[in-house]
Amino acid sequence: MSATRLPHIAVLRLGHRRERDKRITSHLGLTARAFGADEIYLAGEEDPSALETWNSVSKRFGGNFQCRYEDKPLSLLRKFSKDSGNGESGSIIHLTMYGEPWKEALPKINLDKPMIIVVGGTKVPGEVYRLANHNISIGNQPHSEVSALAIFLDSLVGDIDDQAHFSDGELRVIPNAIRKQVVNIEEE
Ligand code: SAM
Repeated sequence: MSATRLPHIAVLRLGHRRERDKRITSHLGLTARAFGADEIYLAGEEDPSALETWNSVSKRFGGNFQCRYEDKPLSLLRKFSKDSGNGESGSIIHLTMYGEPWKEALPKINLDKPMIIVVGGTKVPGEVYRLANHNISIGNQPHSEVSALAIFLDSLVGDIDDQAHFSDGELRVIPNAIRKQVVNIEEE
C-alpha cells in the first residue's frame, strides 16, 4: 500500500548507546530520511555526531529532514498520544518482532493523523507497547531497527519523487545502470 497523501512522519529511536550503536543509529536516520520520514528524534545517550551526519547528508542531497535529541521519549509519546500538536491525538506505531504482521496492520493505520514510528535499541519499556496504537512486526524473527524501518516506510510511503522531495541540495544522483553519475546542482 503506498499512501497517496501522507501525514507528518517522525521516527523515535529509543535507547541509543553512543559507542555501541554509532553506525546503526546513523544508518537508521539516513533510512528514515531516504524512505520518506520528515523527522527523527534520537533518545538514549546524547550523540551530536549522529545529528551532524544527518544534517550534512540533507545539506548535500537536499530535502527538509529534521532531527533532534529527545531526552524524555516516554513523556513525548504520552503527550503525543493525546495531542500531536494540533489538538488531536497522534498515531504511535511501534515496530517490534512481537507485533501484528505489517501487511495486515498497514490498512488500519489512520493516515489523517501525524505519526511517530518507534524503534528500539536496548530493551524497550513495556509502556511503549501500551502507548502504541499499532505494535507491528516485519516478520516475527529478530533482525534490526534499520531493516524494519526501511521495509515499513517503503510499504507506507511508496515511491518518492527525489527531485521534488529532496530539492535544494548540492548534489543529485542520476540513476545509471553502468556507472556512478552525480550532478553538482550548484554548477548546473
Ligand atoms: N533488545 C531489544 C528488545 O528486546 O526490546 C530489541 C533489540 S532489536 C535488535 C532493536 C529493534 O529492532 C527493535 O526494538 C525493533 O524496533 C526492531 N526490530 C527487530 N526485529 C524486528 C522485527 N522482526 N519486526 C519489527 N521490528 C523489529
